Amino acid sequence: MASRIIIHVDMDAFYAAVEQRDRPELRGRPVIVGGTPEGRGVVSAASYEAREFGVHSAMPAAQAVRACPQGAFLPVDMRKYRRVSEEVMAILGLHAGVIEQVSIDEAFLEVTDRARDFAAAARIARSIKREIRGELKLTASVGVGPNKFLAKLASDLEKPDGLVVIEPHEAEGFLAPLPVGKLWGVGPKTEKRLQERGLKTIGQVAGTPVEELRKLLGPWGDVVHELARGIDERAVEPVREAKSASAEQTFPEDLDNVRDMRKALAELSREVAGRLQGEGVRARTVAIKVRFGDFRTITRQTTLGEATDQAEVLRQTAYRLLDGVDRAGQGIRLLGVRGAGLEQALAQLSLFDEQAQRRGQLERTLSYIRRRFGPEAVRWAREGLRQK
Ligand SMILES: [Mg+2]
Repeated sequence: MASRIIIHVDMDAFYAAVEQRDRPELRGRPVIVGGTPEGRGVVSAASYEAREFGVHSAMPAAQAVRACPQGAFLPVDMRKYRRVSEEVMAILGLHAGVIEQVSIDEAFLEVTDRARDFAAAARIARSIKREIRGELKLTASVGVGPNKFLAKLASDLEKPDGLVVIEPHEAEGFLAPLPVGKLWGVGPKTEKRLQERGLKTIGQVAGTPVEELRKLLGPWGDVVHELARGIDERAVEPVREAKSASAEQTFPEDLDNVRDMRKALAELSREVAGRLQGEGVRARTVAIKVRFGDFRTITRQTTLGEATDQAEVLRQTAYRLLDGVDRAGQGIRLLGVRGAGLEQALAQLSLFDEQAQRRGQLERTLSYIRRRFGPEAVRWAREGLRQK
């Protein structure tokens, strides 16, 4: 049976990992971003070394200092994280037609149209991880599943640097032993209510008649019952406006000389420049995509000193990126050029946008619940999701 295939990508300890990447002296050390060594503020992110001391995000910094006095406490450098986030999203953009960015370091990719089966989706997932590691020197955990819920669950199972695939027939087995708190929308209160009825694992919830769950949780019981059985029909919905402009071309015959490749890149650069100018934005990141005759696909990208909407700059950059690709004598089947990290979008981003984005995510979830379970379920959903 045809199934949807969705990938969820979640960067590992994102802010802390970016700092460790950029400051080698911090590698292997507990790094705590947000909050001061004097214990003011709140922790935004903790490296895995810091987590071993029990430090986690949203913890008051004072508490983090007590738990891990030797930690390196760093201020939040949002500008930098946003730029890296744009680079991550640019890589993801090359692997899916539809991307839903959920937060600064997390996104869903709809790959049903690109991956024939889950093995093919796993290959995409591995490429994504490889490119993020190779180009950005960061790690991501990736989950592949037949829906958003399972894909997100999968990405969380083997963090950090994980890759977990949950195929439809495996969903029940994956879910059964997990605590009910792993279901989205089941916060501490709902969890307690379920536990009081002896429902501790997702498997137990799945095996409970929906009427009983309804009695316990109201209309929210319907949602929980579906999730417990691995059912989630939410679509991957692109949230943000175009954050990139790209163009690609598949050649009737594989290209094997550089002149033809450059000619194609020049053409694609003109096309991308036209789109950027049309949108009134400039790209800070330029990427190329290269698919070889054997379908192996790689991307290369670079960040410009100054954002551009000029075909000439894109072209020169694309040439340079192509020069860095080891073709090993292989013909090229497809080339693509992409401009991302659009400057206008970057300048507009603020904490407010981040919150608006989260609200947008919440609203989409609620509208799904409204469509599927009726308006009464929404009230419960709001409560359940607020507990998270
Ligand atoms: Mg993350």
